Amino acid sequence: MTLTENTTDDAVVALAAECAGVVHLPGTPAYDQGRFAWNVAVNQRPAAVALPETVEQLRGVVRHAARLGLRVSAQSTGHAAAILAQHRLDDVVLVRTGALRGVHVDPVSRVARVEAGACWQDVVDVASSYGLAALHGSAPDVGVVGYCLGGGLSWYARKHGLAANSVVGIELVGADGDVVRADAETRPELFWALRGGGGNFGVVTTIEVALQPIADAYAGMMLWPLERAPEVLRAFAAFSPTAPEEVTASFRILRFPPIPELPDFLRGRSVVVLDGAVLLDDAAATDVLSPFRALRPEMDTFARVPSSTLTTLHMDPPEPTPGVGAGVVLDRLDEEAVAAFLAEVGPEARTGVFIAELRMLGGALARSAPGGGALDRVAGSHVAFFLCVAPTPEAAAAGHTAIDQVLAALTPWEAEQRLFLNFADRPVEVSEAFGAASWGRLVAVKRDVDPGGVFLGNHAI
Ligand SMILES: Cc1cc2nc3c(=O)[nH]c(=O)nc-3n(C[C@H](O)[C@H](O)[C@H](O)COP(=O)(O)OP(=O)(O)OC[C@H]3O[C@@H](n4cnc5c(N)ncnc54)[C@H](O)[C@@H]3O)c2cc1C
Repeated sequence: MTLTENTTDDAVVALAAECAGVVHLPGTPAYDQGRFAWNVAVNQRPAAVALPETVEQLRGVVRHAARLGLRVSAQSTGHAAAILAQHRLDDVVLVRTGALRGVHVDPVSRVARVEAGACWQDVVDVASSYGLAALHGSAPDVGVVGYCLGGGLSWYARKHGLAANSVVGIELVGADGDVVRADAETRPELFWALRGGGGNFGVVTTIEVALQPIADAYAGMMLWPLERAPEVLRAFAAFSPTAPEEVTASFRILRFPPIPELPDFLRGRSVVVLDGAVLLDDAAATDVLSPFRALRPEMDTFARVPSSTLTTLHMDPPEPTPGVGAGVVLDRLDEEAVAAFLAEVGPEARTGVFIAELRMLGGALARSAPGGGALDRVAGSHVAFFLCVAPTPEAAAAGHTAIDQVLAALTPWEAEQRLFLNFADRPVEVSEAFGAASWGRLVAVKRDVDPGGVFLGNHAI
């Protein structure tokens, strides 16, 4: 439904009255608190924000919003707010789920039941007390729901596949305000669509993820000065196609500003970092990593560590941060691709790109998962991701230009399905993350479960 400005204003005022204390309008402190995103470069201005503290309140918000002709978009942390903020939000109620953060782990079935606003560290803290690990991402404060609905690339990914494949059940509020369950037996088509299709089908209240019996791993990072990037990247390119599935690793070039918050070994420096996890015994892991140790890193922290520490391995920023980023899936990392990457972000490059990353794909990530969802694999050799710090709109614009240039240089190596939506971080042609058949099926599920177009995912279907 398209509403005129006045009608929309009337609708949000009516919604705030129906959901007093939960829905907040522009001009109030709670609205500004609710629209604040983890990516602080994003200035999202929805029609209203909802801050439900119970599923009942959440149901009321969705039911009344839909009845009043408003749209609804769910957000937990706002790590991916840059994409959402590109949509017209003047008829959108932004439902922030941060107050719903419960986690329950059943150590017998090895399943974590996780509420909508929980972050990965919430799950890791409980699961690790049973010697279990979730297929979490590199940052402790990324939301479980947003990450899993977008696929989810973890340090265990080449052995255990996408985190979306570890999802065993989802409960969500539909446009009528009712909670429905989707799993392999109940609403299987919706279950299929949710796992990769993102926040387009309702507001998830609970997600259930299978855990792995991984108590520890041989994990860490090696660091070299930027000048060593060509050798290290060539070693990484040779290593990636032959490495055992038990290894998931990332290569990064990082250019750190001279800010006091950083530790001495990073402040004001440009460095090359290889990090990741090896799910093998110490001797085998040492053998696997020998090509990198032969390059005599300046720092080497790889060792057997509790799996609970893997959320901090990548040194992702612990606080909300302003950034612009974009990524692309590559189908190979041959010598020409290495040269193109180095020309753009290597030691000789004059670039504003703060992080230039290549994460290994392959292994279980390359295979379709039995009973998997809309995104059950990522075909390609690596996901490339580029990030610029963007404290001002001017810095954001310059960052986008710098990233566009790198992406353009890598075009010849793009995989057929060139997008992995969790690493897209900017508005994209969403269908390019899926094959034609899966995209058609996603559109059909969207029409079926949300014919009125109530729900807006950041990557919209
Ligand atoms: C520092 C950093 C590190 C990262 N590391 C990784 C990584 O290692 N691997 C990886 O795969 N990705 C990674 N990502 C990407 C991350 O997984 C995506 O940005 C993801 O969408 C973030 O989820 P969120 O809930 O935290 O973000 P949000 O911006 O809160 O949510 C993202 C989207 O998810 C959907 N959504 C969220 N909650 C709900 C809900 N309750 N119901 C319905 N839909 C919902 C909505 O469409 C929403 O717009 C990283 C991102 C950052 C910034």
